[in-house]
Amino acid sequence: MLQIDGLRSFSAPGTHLAVVGFPIAHSISPIFQNAALRSMQTRHPELIDWSYHKIEAPVELLPEVIALAKSKGFRGLNLTLPHKVEVLPYLDEVDSVAEKMGAVNTLVFRDSRVVGYNTDGDGVSLAIRESLGIEVKGRTVVVLGAGGASRAACVRFLEEGCAQLWVGNRSTERLGILLERLRRDYPRRDIIGFAPGEALPELGDGALLVQATSLGLKLGDPLPADSQLLSRVGYVYDMVYGLVPTPLVVEARRLGLLACDGLPMLLHQGARSLELWTGLGVPVDVMAEAVATHRAGSTAS
Ligand code: NAP
Repeated sequence: MLQIDGLRSFSAPGTHLAVVGFPIAHSISPIFQNAALRSMQTRHPELIDWSYHKIEAPVELLPEVIALAKSKGFRGLNLTLPHKVEVLPYLDEVDSVAEKMGAVNTLVFRDSRVVGYNTDGDGVSLAIRESLGIEVKGRTVVVLGAGGASRAACVRFLEEGCAQLWVGNRSTERLGILLERLRRDYPRRDIIGFAPGEALPELGDGALLVQATSLGLKLGDPLPADSQLLSRVGYVYDMVYGLVPTPLVVEARRLGLLACDGLPMLLHQGARSLELWTGLGVPVDVMAEAVATHRAGSTAS
């Protein structure tokens, strides 16, 4: 893991990528990104000197990290908490969907310009299709949370043509800001806010609940959705991926719902970033295998 001093003196040959966050020690992105690169190198020898790192840096160092990475052979960066929104002033160009999301998780260094993308929307959409076997188009979706991950998911679901979008969040102020933004960008769509614990009407068996709060990251966290809310949906996608399965996924399955944790989303958003950097198809199955091996090793040790 590189700190700012390590990045200042960094001088390895080759093409580099990294995830930047604070903290970042827990990140498993290098495990699956390097596994994908190793697999891609067999068919694409031009990737032979590519490698993916992690950089720990607080928000105030982000401009320096970007400048250093650009000058030291990095093709781009992934950004995680707390950088996804804070990075916006430092970009030369922002992809139109990322602009609507108001957050960027992927930087591509292109002809000395810094271009921002957001692959979280692709990640959650592909994960829902793959893990739950459903499409969002025409479906009622309930999203919990109003942070960066929720914003990306809400924009993606509206772009895909969800029938109705319900958004709930603990802070009513943050919820109001998100709803205002979504209603401005999608004025003809059915977007409804609700408070935690508020009873929702019948939404139909096929409704999808997407959990995008930080609840479930720590042992002992309360469940982010109560039984009333779970009784309104048929499917649950929990973006949290630390505990496997997450407590919400366990509870949803106990109630007979189809449910999945956030690992497939993490892999798909990472694969989409790697596609942006390399211009090549990325083996998501290789990424998943690398994480499974890593987890088996962590459990054994
Ligand atoms: P964020 O911007 O910090 O937003 C955090 C959200 O969680 C806010 O809506 C916040 O509500 C809510 N929250 C935090 N503590 C809470 C509590 N005790 N009770 C109720 N609500 C609480 O974070 P983010 O980037 O959106 O990430 C949210 C979650 O998604 C995290 O668990 C993250 O790991 C996960 N995520 C997963 C992936 C993936 O690839 N699987 C990608 C991105 C994010 P307030 O507004 O009321 O504070």
